[in-house]
Amino acid sequence: MIPFNKPCVVESEIDVLTEVLHENKLSGNGIYGKRCSHWLEYNLACERVLLTPSCTAALEMTALLMNISEGDEVIMPSYTFVSTANAYTLRGATVRFVDIDPLTMNIDPQAIEAAISKQTKAVVVVHYAGVSCDMDAIQELTAAYNLWLIEDAAQALMSTYKGKALGTIGHMGTISFHDTKNITCGEGGALLINDPSLMERAEIIQEKGTNRSQFIRGEVDKYTWRDVGSSYVLSELNAAYLFVQLNHAREITANRLTSWGLYDKELKQLQSINAIELPVIPKNGSHNAHMFFIKTTNEHDRNRLMAYLKERDIITASHYVPLHSAYAGAIYGSFIGTDQYTTRESKRLLRLPLYYRIGERAIHHVTSQIQEFFQP
Ligand SMILES: *Cc1c(COP(=O)(O)O)cnc(C)c1O
Repeated sequence: MIPFNKPCVVESEIDVLTEVLHENKLSGNGIYGKRCSHWLEYNLACERVLLTPSCTAALEMTALLMNISEGDEVIMPSYTFVSTANAYTLRGATVRFVDIDPLTMNIDPQAIEAAISKQTKAVVVVHYAGVSCDMDAIQELTAAYNLWLIEDAAQALMSTYKGKALGTIGHMGTISFHDTKNITCGEGGALLINDPSLMERAEIIQEKGTNRSQFIRGEVDKYTWRDVGSSYVLSELNAAYLFVQLNHAREITANRLTSWGLYDKELKQLQSINAIELPVIPKNGSHNAHMFFIKTTNEHDRNRLMAYLKERDIITASHYVPLHSAYAGAIYGSFIGTDQYTTRESKRLLRLPLYYRIGERAIHHVTSQIQEFFQP
């Protein structure tokens, strides 16, 4: 069987876990937590990185840091994961869902502008499949209208836009280390803070609303309740596991890119006869091969192909049901403008198996079965 995903394992995770267990210091912001933060700050060229229990938690922190409250509106694509929206609905905001660019499945900058109102407080972009949104156009808008810009870079670690790491372009960015992502510690995330004015408060919100971080650094002689906050700290066990994988980030990304390139090459012929469409990577950035998706002509063909491959022990997956069409989406938000592409494109998208060290043979097997499906 070829699974859709296998969580990445390099080899030496077990050794650091044993080491941490022997140290018997498992709470957060420990030695490995700091190493991970520094690795990310250095390698992504980011001002400050806080490790969180998930990308969901990091998104919640952005809502607190922007003081999102009832009456505020937040603009985002409808084609995203629930956490992108929940972080702000939890604080009472209304979500304004907008359409995507069909080529990248990323938010359409023109649709953003049409959705801006007096209540708009923030724009949250999602770098789908680890491929960058059109950040120049989006930043121009958020600057002109004086809005916060948040990057949900959950899928985008090791991707860039014009030489900058994704997640480091907006005021804040968030990353996921869930085991469906390229680099993982099971459950984990990071908040990337690019606006220095947010740093002190971010540390306080992460540490239950206290200035414990300053206390640990010896800057104050006791720590007290300073602000709202919660427990947004990643356990040292998860951080140790993560640190091993971060040190292999380049190799993991290179391996996935090779697999991605092979899919692309072997499926080009089907694209040339208009049986399927292949992903388009804009020239202005580099991606991390988080995902390889194809698009069939319509939903019916997509579902037939998915079932055909499953019968042959190849597991593929569709993706997001657009949030505006989900039960809670209609309660907490609404779609602004016309849904020209979101629903239509999401119904014909199919994700193929892709994971660290999937290997040439497996990919060749998948592509040959797809070719067979489309045989006249
Ligand atoms: C995976 C993902 C999340 C959630 O990440 P967790 O670490 O599981 O909370 C949020 N947004 C997007 C776009 C994702 O792909």
